[in-house]
Amino acid sequence: MLDTLQEAGFEAYVVGGGVRDLLTGLKPKDFDVATDARPEQIRRLFRSCRLVGRRFMIAHVRFGHETVEVTTFRGPISDTHERDATGRILSDNVYGTLEDDAFRRDFTVNALYYDARSGIIVDYVGGLEDLRNRTLRLIGEPESRYREDAVRMLRAVRIGNKLHFRLDPACIEPMQRLAPLLREIPPARLFDEILKLLLNPDAVENFRALHWLHLWQALFPEVDAALEREPERTRAFIERALAGAAERLHQGLPVSPAFLFAALLWVPVQARARDLAERQGHPLFVALQQATEELMTRQALRIAMPKRFSVPAREIWQLQPRFEQRRGGRPQRFLAHPRFRAAYDFLLLRHRSGESLQESVDWWTAAQQGVPSPMADSASPVVHGQRRRRRRRSRRGAHPGPEPQS
Ligand code: ATP
Ligand code: MG
Repeated sequence: MLDTLQEAGFEAYVVGGGVRDLLTGLKPKDFDVATDARPEQIRRLFRSCRLVGRRFMIAHVRFGHETVEVTTFRGPISDTHERDATGRILSDNVYGTLEDDAFRRDFTVNALYYDARSGIIVDYVGGLEDLRNRTLRLIGEPESRYREDAVRMLRAVRIGNKLHFRLDPACIEPMQRLAPLLREIPPARLFDEILKLLLNPDAVENFRALHWLHLWQALFPEVDAALEREPERTRAFIERALAGAAERLHQGLPVSPAFLFAALLWVPVQARARDLAERQGHPLFVALQQATEELMTRQALRIAMPKRFSVPAREIWQLQPRFEQRRGGRPQRFLAHPRFRAAYDFLLLRHRSGESLQESVDWWTAAQQGVPSPMADSASPVVHGQRRRRRRRSRRGAHPGPEPQS
């Protein structure tokens, strides 16, 4: 990879998270390469190469099973860069030297360039010293770096927790003030960043830091309001869900973003549904439907959850009232529902977070085993519907149970 570029007469270095993680003793997730070759030149050198990105063009080069991101050295920021009214950089295809490139990166420890030929690490920004002092520090003046790209505030939280580094106080100081800039970031990019933060072994720490640093309210305003109204309960619910997902990741199990988002937004959705039920006298499931629409619409203004996640997240909520319906043929039909298991795991999460649902949990736990529950208010929960259930089971998606079920 590096050889191919260097033999063609280009400079090529490993840079970014890979170098940083190796030097701190962590296992790198992947390696990024920086070069003076232009995207078109990179493409000509590698057979399986794709150019991606609008704001800044990046070459994805397939290398065995892995994809290496190869970026051309970025040039210095100048007035020619297209920006929006808040200072955010919109297009960024000006090239430069290694030194220019170093100053365009976010944190000093992310701007270390490893030259595999000489074994030398090139450091223009004091990254090695910060690494020794275990400090995450922005390159340059924090406020303007956040104005160029507010996502750097989220990266500070994620990378700081990952490395167990302290955040430089100058990086923290402008956060509360500049948090509203996150509203200018395209909601699809925010979705990706949120997943990186919360589908993460450090999810609980990341959530706490986002909240403490006042970034959370720019991302999840409705959840933030719930954290103000009912701090204990909201916090307990979210942290339990995040810890459950982190535990599954730890065990190498898949975690579904739908379940995670359903959990993040549950307390405000439920509060709104109760409110609507009380004030308008709607049955709870109608109120829940209306609350779901309201919350999802408002949340989508900030974070764009793709339909393949938002649809099942809604469904997990909509199915909750069905745990109360235990008579006649309804339980059988519910057990056969493709999303039953996710809804049931959500019920467990609610129960363990302090909603008193013991009776429901016992009944449905027994129902799934096909045995009459001692609490059953219909004789035997599972009589019919077995065939349908078996047929549908294979379509159920993976989801993070609050705790693994045998
Ligand atoms: P990880 O891969 O562990 O998530 P990383 O630091 O490698 O962390 P990437 O998103 O892979 O993160 O980015 C690779 C490198 O690109 C970073 O180390 C940094 O040098 C640079 N970079 C990424 N995002 C930004 C940004 N928003 N502003 C400036 N530089 C960035
Ligand atoms: Mg990386």
